[in-house]
Amino acid sequence: MPGKLSSAQAENAWAFDVPAFRRALLGWFSANARDLPWRRTLDPYHVWLSEIMLQQTQMDRAVGYFERFLERFPDMASLDAAGEDEVLKLWEGLGYYSRARNLRKAARVVMERHGGAFPRTHADIRDLPGVGPYTAGAIASVAYNTPVPAVDANVLRVFARLLDMADPVDSPAVRRRMEAAAEELLDPHDARSFNQALMELGALICAPRKPRCEACPVREFCLARQRGTAEARPVTKPAPEIIRIDMACGVLASRGRLFIQKRRQGDVWPGLWEFPGGVLEQGESPEQALVREWREETGLPVAPAGKIAVVRSSYTRYRITMHGFYCRVENGLDPESAYCLNEADEARFVTAEEIKRFAFPSGHARLVAKLLTDLRLDAFLLAS
Ligand code: SF4
Repeated sequence: MPGKLSSAQAENAWAFDVPAFRRALLGWFSANARDLPWRRTLDPYHVWLSEIMLQQTQMDRAVGYFERFLERFPDMASLDAAGEDEVLKLWEGLGYYSRARNLRKAARVVMERHGGAFPRTHADIRDLPGVGPYTAGAIASVAYNTPVPAVDANVLRVFARLLDMADPVDSPAVRRRMEAAAEELLDPHDARSFNQALMELGALICAPRKPRCEACPVREFCLARQRGTAEARPVTKPAPEIIRIDMACGVLASRGRLFIQKRRQGDVWPGLWEFPGGVLEQGESPEQALVREWREETGLPVAPAGKIAVVRSSYTRYRITMHGFYCRVENGLDPESAYCLNEADEARFVTAEEIKRFAFPSGHARLVAKLLTDLRLDAFLLAS
């Protein structure tokens, strides 16, 4: 019975007319669903790709990446045949690069274990590298209409408000209760639309700040709206402290080409490329850090030869300020024969055109963009 809400909801018993809730939500979704490229098909390869991209990325931002990725890798076989550098380059800027590496691993599993056909069962989908419980539920329900829930951050927020949850939703116990509640609420006949409708409601109406309750299709079922607590839900644990880090790196050239090195497997950002450099030690200037890091990482004695730019990047807990310099080798050494690799898997000397084909972590990618538009670059390359 819509409107008759009770505190039993706090125990995850949906104390309202569940079929009426489903009808209200699905009716709203059929009239308001956004036209997104991955919604124009039920091809599980497309659904999977979109779900992996959307794991840590805003919808608007993912659209361009999704279209470019599909244009280059239209099916599982083409992705399986791709090199890591090319996949990472197409992913550059999306962050959380383990997702891109897991795409390649999953493509291998699909080719070897499933003969190239995307797996159909929830369990087989869940077994793919990079696929967690939410993603498996989303793919199985959207691609195959399998009646399994898919509880992402948007859905969790909607549930926390519908139930007026005062406990932190990021605790495992509450999370489990929410997943049980999701199973109860799921429309078993149209899991595909129902799961997408809940996510869409969280994205468009039940927004993190200032939920638009007056436009909400399920407002009459919502306990937080009734109690005036919507903006105070969901409750989360305090955010971890932000850590600020200063780094320095150096761009070296030899015979008109730039030195780049590939980050080691097992390090942060494995397989991405960078200019040698690292974190400033206590009391060190960026220039001093640059000289020390180059010596430690490549064995080469270098001196700074002008600042290129200072670039800033944000990661979940970190705010990084990167000081980028031109540098030159000391003592008349030929860098192409004198360098060693102490902290990288591979190094190359590449032209300013070729460097565009390599994937860098976001700070270095910004520095590359600054470098390629720097009016001093041609003279720097000519003098090398
Ligand atoms: Fe969210 Fe408001 Fe709708 Fe409740 S009524 S689900 S708080 S938008």
